Amino acid sequence: MNLGRDNHPELREPVSALCSEFGSAYWQEIDEKRAYPEKFVEALTKAGWMSALIPEQYGGSGLSLTEATVIMEELSRSGGNAGSCHGQMYNMNTLLRNGSEAQKKRYLPRIASGELRMQAMGVTEPTAGTDTTKIKTSAVRKGDRYVINGQKVWTSRLQHSELMILLARTTPLTEVARKADGMSVFLVETKSKGLEAKPIRNMVNHETNQLFIDNLEVPAENLIGEEGKGFRYILDGLNAERILIAAECIGDGYWFIERSTNYAGERVVFDRPIGQNQGIQFPIAEAYMEIEAANLMRYKAASFYDQKKSCGAEANMAKHLAAKASWEAANVCLQTHGGFGFAAEYDVERKFRESRLYLVAPISTNLILSYLAEHVLGLPRSF
Ligand SMILES: Cc1cc2nc3c(=O)[nH]c(=O)nc-3n(C[C@H](O)[C@H](O)[C@H](O)COP(=O)(O)OP(=O)(O)OC[C@H]3O[C@@H](n4cnc5c(N)ncnc54)[C@H](O)[C@@H]3O)c2cc1C
Repeated sequence: MNLGRDNHPELREPVSALCSEFGSAYWQEIDEKRAYPEKFVEALTKAGWMSALIPEQYGGSGLSLTEATVIMEELSRSGGNAGSCHGQMYNMNTLLRNGSEAQKKRYLPRIASGELRMQAMGVTEPTAGTDTTKIKTSAVRKGDRYVINGQKVWTSRLQHSELMILLARTTPLTEVARKADGMSVFLVETKSKGLEAKPIRNMVNHETNQLFIDNLEVPAENLIGEEGKGFRYILDGLNAERILIAAECIGDGYWFIERSTNYAGERVVFDRPIGQNQGIQFPIAEAYMEIEAANLMRYKAASFYDQKKSCGAEANMAKHLAAKASWEAANVCLQTHGGFGFAAEYDVERKFRESRLYLVAPISTNLILSYLAEHVLGLPRSF
């Protein structure tokens, strides 16, 4: 089956061929050991897929966000876990759109060659939660450096990344005119003194951590863009993140549909394939429709992003619709497989767990709904 794969064969075919070298057994073992898929990420990097968004003059292939989403979709639909490596794709735009020429020259060629990974982003904090403007991590300028103190949570891929995008307050909340002002973004080398990571064991095999920041010194030249404007840069980057995640969910969704359809066609109970029963067919057909519809919004959002049009609403809608559709497809897939859906060797239970994450992270459902209610529909702000 080739559902939803009618564009970009020049990307889909080679990415899918690479992914086929990392089959079920590989992902099952990685999941069971709660290990990081080092070989997979290494292979993607060597083949140049992890530097897709880096402009050619810095050693990358200069692809658009739309094309990057196709790569991420293929990773998911191959049965792998794109969450192990999507960070570099969405962090990239923060650096590309707001970083200085010196920062780009210093880091991008080394990221493109695979010498450095920029897979981690530290935004969420334990007490602020989704209310990002309340972050407590502070950065104080001292001569040619910033000294950073604070705490982050859910900082993913940190232990498999040399670079992290870090958000900190450079002006206290009480001293800014607007609460979104006064935050800044830094490019941090993760092996620096003053950083301590404590892994969080979680439902998915997702390398993620509590991060304690104690007098971390970051050279002032690693401030991205202007001091105090970091929240805007992060928001722009988050739009890219949402669109990329939407594509991953679409990839998961097609994977669930294909697995459901294949199994429903093969499994014989009461002397006929279970897929002959409309009680099995209809939920699969419905889940497929939802994936197709969400996919349209994913391409719309990606195209707006590439044209540098405002795309907050589209990015949020794409992520939400795709995450919901993929979760529905996951449920249908599990139900279609009956008891075997719970057996690790079928991969369904693993993908089921993986797909659930995206209704919560990188932004949870309620926050998307409230964004649309307020910013698109003009309803009163609720918080
Ligand atoms: C596996 C994993 C990986 C992650 N990776 C990263 C990462 O790499 N970097 C990073 O910075 N963060 C990361 N996160 C954090 C993630 O972005 C947050 O968990 C997510 O945005 C939700 O924030 P929270 O957990 O603080 O929930 P909270 O803000 O505590 O909210 C809890 C619940 O209440 C709801 N809620 C809160 N306020 C309102 C309101 N006013 N109205 C209605 N509902 C509301 C939320 O929607 C949510 O459902 C990761 C999380 C997970 C689980």
